[in-house]
Amino acid sequence: MNKDQLDITNLHWLLQILQNIEVGLIVFDRNYDVKVWNGFMENHSGISSVAAKDENLFRLLPTLPKSWFEYKTESVLKLGIQAHCNWQQEPHILNFENTRPFTAESDLMFQNLTLFPLFSTNKEIYHICALVYDVSEEANNLLKLKTISQTDALTQLFNRGHWQQAFEQEFLRCQRYEDTASVIMMDIDNFKPVNDTYGHQVGDRAIQLIANIMLESQRETDICGRYGGEEFVILLPKTSLNDGVLVAERLRKQIEQTSLPLGKDHNDEQLKLTISAGVAEFSNEFSIAENWLEKADAALYDSKKNGRNQVSK
Ligand code: GH3
Ligand code: MG
Ligand code: MG
Repeated sequence: MNKDQLDITNLHWLLQILQNIEVGLIVFDRNYDVKVWNGFMENHSGISSVAAKDENLFRLLPTLPKSWFEYKTESVLKLGIQAHCNWQQEPHILNFENTRPFTAESDLMFQNLTLFPLFSTNKEIYHICALVYDVSEEANNLLKLKTISQTDALTQLFNRGHWQQAFEQEFLRCQRYEDTASVIMMDIDNFKPVNDTYGHQVGDRAIQLIANIMLESQRETDICGRYGGEEFVILLPKTSLNDGVLVAERLRKQIEQTSLPLGKDHNDEQLKLTISAGVAEFSNEFSIAENWLEKADAALYDSKKNGRNQVSK
């Protein structure tokens, strides 16, 4: 075998490798007409390389954010350097399905993207190469960890730390944009006797029941958290005091009307629970977020003092 034959063999191998690697490979020219479309792209887009050849990239991938992608490409052309995009900036550049959707946080594949110029033999750039990496596994793991670190294990509500963070952000938002929001603080009435009579496990189930009622009745923008053992908080963005009271009152009634079946161990008794709540609206007079929560806590104290199972503002 002479040297030329060897080079051609190598080239042939190289093409097969590029065709089969688990990375998306697209080569396109300055008009965004596709020249190379490898096996990964074929498998995930359902478009063969023959059909893709000389077609416009944006027609092949209609969900690709056009002006953003053009901006990235222009900078590669102008500067002759690589450009990267991480899934955390733009999670699903290509609208491909996740290949392992069952355990995933999203039905779509998460991708990293690299763009780089292809220099011709005369040192000009006529073509650009895009590499698309499937990083779904890494992204899903990270998103799962993030969810776990923000969630209370017993109730699936936000935990205190994460809720507090959201609350402080909302406080700053209201200050900056002269907007309003309300916060509800709730505490289960006479809960100690529940634990003492039926045991801690029943107490935990009671806490879960109330959290479920909160989760089921919450609006999309409401932010529900478990603040302490049997204390709950709800942040209601863009909500006046009176509307906040209505939300709290509706919850209070719903909880009052629900009962927890205790099962055979406790003669099939039904446990009745009530909550007391305090509501406070954002005010420009608060210097820190804590002042806002203190006001809700003071209203909650009034509800307890005045006989429990009620809402105060
Ligand atoms: P009040 O109406 O004044 O709120 O009376 P209370 O008995 O509910 O008083 P308080 O709110 O001070 O009681 C809190 C009790 O809740 C203390 C503890 O036994 C119980 N508790 C706190 N966290 C948990 C928890 O995670 N699980 C269980 N089972 N019980 C908890
Ligand atoms: Mg309490
Ligand atoms: Mg209590």
